[in-house]
Amino acid sequence: MPVTGDGVRRWHADLAWLPAGGVRPGVLIEASGERFVSVRPDVRPGDVPTGTVRLPGLTLPGLANAHSHAFHRALRGAAQAGQGTFWTWRERMYQVAARLEPDSYLALARAVYAEMAMAGIACVGEFHYLHHATGGVPYADPNQMGRALIEAAAEAGVRITLIDTCYLSGGLGNDGSPEPLAGPQLRFGDGDSEQWAQRVHALRADQHGMLAGHARLGVAIHSVRAVPPGQMHPVIACSHAYGAPLHAHLSEQIAENQACLAAHGVTPTGLLDRVGALGPRSTVVHATHLTGGDIEALGGSRTVLCMCPTTEADLADGVGPARALVSAGSPMSLGSDSHAVIDLLEEARRVELGERLITGQRGNFSAAALARAATVAGHACLGWPEAGEIAPGALADLVTVALDTPRLAGVSEATALESVIFAGTAADVREVVVGGRDVVRDGRHLLVDVPAALDDAIRPLLAP
Ligand SMILES: [Zn+2]
Repeated sequence: MPVTGDGVRRWHADLAWLPAGGVRPGVLIEASGERFVSVRPDVRPGDVPTGTVRLPGLTLPGLANAHSHAFHRALRGAAQAGQGTFWTWRERMYQVAARLEPDSYLALARAVYAEMAMAGIACVGEFHYLHHATGGVPYADPNQMGRALIEAAAEAGVRITLIDTCYLSGGLGNDGSPEPLAGPQLRFGDGDSEQWAQRVHALRADQHGMLAGHARLGVAIHSVRAVPPGQMHPVIACSHAYGAPLHAHLSEQIAENQACLAAHGVTPTGLLDRVGALGPRSTVVHATHLTGGDIEALGGSRTVLCMCPTTEADLADGVGPARALVSAGSPMSLGSDSHAVIDLLEEARRVELGERLITGQRGNFSAAALARAATVAGHACLGWPEAGEIAPGALADLVTVALDTPRLAGVSEATALESVIFAGTAADVREVVVGGRDVVRDGRHLLVDVPAALDDAIRPLLAP
């Protein structure tokens, strides 16, 4: 990729989706270092400086995958045979978790994050709870697994928010008391949330929550199943201390709601509200089974929603009330969660298609609203408000979707964004730039041989 003598890189996008003006033709985009410095639409090809790289197709800002469990990728397809529920799938997922060590996790996560990059994802929110060795014994460095994920993201060319997750109990018993962790779950636990916080402090994030140039800290309450309310405060305090995003799985399953009501007399949302875990820096993942009061509490507090529609469908969770939450005030982000597929364009359209199936109405979310969920809103909920828009000052992330593929050929300029959101796939992503650096060129990852890396990492995990 040519860098001109003035240190500025230039691209000329046939079409680009810009924050204020929608899709515009002939957009000349300039970056210095990792930031955009100028963005000008309606520039004719003959008027661009020499050394400018042409981007044919529709160019979007970098996508943000706000909810990932990298190791679940190993289960893709393998967990599709036979019947079952979320809970039987979870047993299968624990079998994979039991086999991972820092080296094998690094290899798997590098391959998975590289697959994400090929799908146009510039930043991943890794909801990380596989902290310790078998039996819950800490590694020599108790953050070795988390550091493997940070390294994996660097090697795959993407940014990461390491959402360090507090996971203390195996569920809520019939009498409402927390059940102890058992078997593979022992690897998730830190004993109590004070010890969890000590381990997180040892990651040595700076006062802005940065762990490295490409990595920042997030924190999570795994769910109301896994963290008793009396243990939630240190996690919230850690979020405040570092300005770190606070995430939580919420009401993914009806059984979780029932157990929480029986144990605490409130819904999971009510419990998070009671302990002070809701607010603009908080993101709730799934939010599938909510009451009207839950929707008011989440929207009114501007808590972010993270929808993961392919996973929610895959695990037979249900369809959450995305439109109602957004109308109530919650920004919306998207995640590929269990990585049944890694394709944020599919996640985006499935939010709208799910609404259509339930309401009998089309047009609940515009293509632009879904694109914002996949880009600027996702980055913001991961603690990167400076990313997700093609605008001066923003991090220089670009994703070019080819429009000459079998899926998208024939697209008209006026509805290019609609076509890409509702018919495009990860396979149509051709160029990806993250922080001013090329990561995917002409559909090929420049740092990782993705299919080979995935195959090498996954086969040993699934071997009998
Ligand atoms: Zn999840």
